[in-house]
Amino acid sequence: MKRPALSIVVPCYNEAACLDILHARVSAAAKAAVGEDYEIVLVNDGSKDASWPTMQRLAAADPHLVAINLSRNHGHQLALTAGLDLCCGAQIMIIDADLQDPPELLADMRATMIAEQADVVYAVRRKREGESVFKKLTAAIFYRVLDRVTDTPIPLDTGDFRLMSRRALDAFLSLPEQARFIRGMVAWIGFRQVPYLYDRAERHAGETKYPLAKMIRFALDAVTGFSTAPLRFASHVGLALTGASLLLFVYIAIGFFTGTAVQGWTSTMLVVVLLGAVQMFVLGMIGEYLGRLYVESKRRPLYLVADVAGPVQGRATLGYRAEPVAIAAPVALPEPASKPATKPAPAARRKPRIKPPATPA
Ligand code: UDP
Ligand code: MG
Repeated sequence: MKRPALSIVVPCYNEAACLDILHARVSAAAKAAVGEDYEIVLVNDGSKDASWPTMQRLAAADPHLVAINLSRNHGHQLALTAGLDLCCGAQIMIIDADLQDPPELLADMRATMIAEQADVVYAVRRKREGESVFKKLTAAIFYRVLDRVTDTPIPLDTGDFRLMSRRALDAFLSLPEQARFIRGMVAWIGFRQVPYLYDRAERHAGETKYPLAKMIRFALDAVTGFSTAPLRFASHVGLALTGASLLLFVYIAIGFFTGTAVQGWTSTMLVVVLLGAVQMFVLGMIGEYLGRLYVESKRRPLYLVADVAGPVQGRATLGYRAEPVAIAAPVALPEPASKPATKPAPAARRKPRIKPPATPA
């Protein structure tokens, strides 16, 4: 199979209302950029709405479109990984399904990639339309805290909307972790990466698929995936508390020798409560790392594909990952050669257990 010049990869979760317009706008942008030499890879991440039938309908009418149906909701970052695994373009654009990232910027991003001789052009949000103050504020704080604690410099206010070269994508696909913070992982691979400023639009339809709980998990994946600073924090706190307890020891000794030892219930309680809280916090932090270690150690596949619609021949081998990702229909195993061919199959020899239904009189 020939590599198309461009792949556009879109993870979708309950985005049926966006798909038609997404398809139209992405197709127009791709045609303007590379003519007919492109593919669109839509990944259905276990949607509960009509996303999959819509994708099948679109794929039946458009030979540029490949749709992948995951076996269940695997989460945004894994759905995106599935699409990136299975796409085969020489350049790869990642975009959200809700049209918050305008596909029309493709031409300009490609021009930037060529002008800057970059392997990655990542889109940086200058403005975010139609998002809640809470989301904007937490996002702003999150990216800044992340920047402080991580060892890899991860660009601020940057989502997954980006253009990548094939060699950058192949480098990215060689990272095997389960807890995937893709924008950080792409930053980690290196090569030449340049920012591209844009204004983030409002969602075309529906609402965000990132409720608070998912956002927290995502943030924890980011921090634990790229930094051991929280673990270092534990030892720093331990050191500081040791110093403080030495001072306390002096205070206790003075109280003992001057006979004022009974007083001080308040301070005792304060110390107990504070130490308890700090211990729980540090334990929880260690737990976050331990839990992720546990998940990684199971080495499960990152995602499972249930169905594919569109031109997919040769994709499993073209994809970087060697493990099978598509579950094929059950294959009949050949009979062992030693068995005589005339011997009836065991099922046929056995008497049927279920009585045939009585024929009506
Ligand atoms: N998404 C996904 N699986 C999920 C959650 C989200 O594939 O479990 C997709 C979603 O359809 C969208 C993209 O990830 O294309 C980003 O999600 P969303 O727009 O809801 O996030 P926000 O822009 O609000 O941060
Ligand atoms: Mg969005």
